[in-house]
Amino acid sequence: MTHESLDRPQTSDSPSVAERRAAAYRLEETEAVLRKMTNWLRTYWTQPEHWPVYQPGQTGDTYRQIAPEMPTKGQPLDEVFCAFQQTVLPRLLHWNHPGFFGFFPSNTSGPSVAASLLTASLNVNPFSWNAGPGAVELEARVVEWLGAAIGLPWPGCLQDTASSSTLCAVIAARERALARFPEAQEEGLRAAPPLAAYLSEEAHSSVEKALLLAGIGGAYIHKIPTSDHLGIDANALHAAILADHSRGRIPFFVCSSLGTTSSTAFDDVHAVQSAIEQTRPAAKYTHTIWHHVDAALAGSAAILPEQRWMMNGVKEADSFVFNPHKWLFTHFECSALFVRDKETYKAALRSDPAYLQNHTEKSDDDSNGYSPEDYRNWSIQLGRGFRGLKLWFVLSTYGLDGIQKLLRHHLQLTQHLYKLLADDRRFVVLSPPRLNTICIACPKGDHDTRQLYERIIQRKRVYLTPTVIRDRFWIRIAIGQTAVQIEDVESLYSELIDTVTGRSRQEA
Ligand SMILES: *Cc1c(COP(=O)(O)O)cnc(C)c1O
Repeated sequence: MTHESLDRPQTSDSPSVAERRAAAYRLEETEAVLRKMTNWLRTYWTQPEHWPVYQPGQTGDTYRQIAPEMPTKGQPLDEVFCAFQQTVLPRLLHWNHPGFFGFFPSNTSGPSVAASLLTASLNVNPFSWNAGPGAVELEARVVEWLGAAIGLPWPGCLQDTASSSTLCAVIAARERALARFPEAQEEGLRAAPPLAAYLSEEAHSSVEKALLLAGIGGAYIHKIPTSDHLGIDANALHAAILADHSRGRIPFFVCSSLGTTSSTAFDDVHAVQSAIEQTRPAAKYTHTIWHHVDAALAGSAAILPEQRWMMNGVKEADSFVFNPHKWLFTHFECSALFVRDKETYKAALRSDPAYLQNHTEKSDDDSNGYSPEDYRNWSIQLGRGFRGLKLWFVLSTYGLDGIQKLLRHHLQLTQHLYKLLADDRRFVVLSPPRLNTICIACPKGDHDTRQLYERIIQRKRVYLTPTVIRDRFWIRIAIGQTAVQIEDVESLYSELIDTVTGRSRQEA
């Protein structure tokens, strides 16, 4: 580019530098569209009955409606917003819809949305303390708030997902186990005996995936059977660890699940920890077994004193993850990972190239009660979003009381629906819900249940997802959307009855 081609203002009525900046950001049309968006949001959140919870249409509908090439000439933002409403919005699964009871709740809220405007505007990337001291220190504080709220006073950080958090825990566990084999520092896993890991057969798929990603062979990943309540069988776990040990393998990682995805079943973390400890006299290496606790969904409920039972034994474990983006009114992505021994944890994930080091003055002594963290040494990725802000907005505005009230409301709604279903001979209920998930089936078995499921989805009034537990097909109902009301739960029940009896809504 030659000097002359630079767009330098020539006359006094040329755009000012502020005007040129505004133009680069497309600020003016953004302001106008943001006003429209807040109106749109009011309708979207308060009158969602106007559109179906899920209308997938024909595969490729949206793909074909979007031009195959990007526009040469830019379009007005307003037009793109309209196109979004016409071609993308109708074909989304509406996770905040009153008819959504699928997968697990994925909450959001006004304060979370408001914070996202700020984080997107600032676009700060707090991978190290000096990349955004305010962001890093805020993150440290809100993680402390969360820890105190669930009774876990451990250091931690915010990650994107529970999957990443679990992968980090597995890697920390692997490195701690390998530390005893100096050759492995150079040669990697092959210079050590095989590492073995344990999780329940009901554990989330992300745990097995993390182990595979960390180089653990499938043959050494043991899915331990569960007992009647679908929690891990601690005796079977104990036996499996000893069996591996006697074959010269290194047991290195155990995952407890608090709130399985299929049915929100709970492992007894204390019993798991005891099972690990009881292997020690016989098996010399098991003192380095890393015990990770996956409470992705259910962890939020530990904010309620009456649900704190699930945390029994967690302080003896090594790491704990739960997702505020599931059930704590904070939009995706926001996962909180806590670790008991942060130095061991960070040793496995540290990277310190010259170009990332802190040049700013940073006092490492925590005489004022704070020691700065470089969060890049806490996670797989370098760049990371400023997630602390949305969590701060949410926790500050709802407060502990407000959050507890909403969670209790969700649990009461679950109990209400459970009573309706348990008293109804047309359905079988897996078990009384421990938290917010109910699994139902038809009394005659899988064929009927699958048919019921397909019909419900076709009717498009509610959205549910299925699962298989011990070879049986179940329809899951997960309650916990930010705004779910008693009317929504009762109309879900009516919809189930209407579907079972083949009635249309008009006849009913
Ligand atoms: C949802 C869930 C996960 C996965 O969470 P992501 O944040 O999507 O990775 C893992 N474990 C359990 C128990 C879950 O419910």
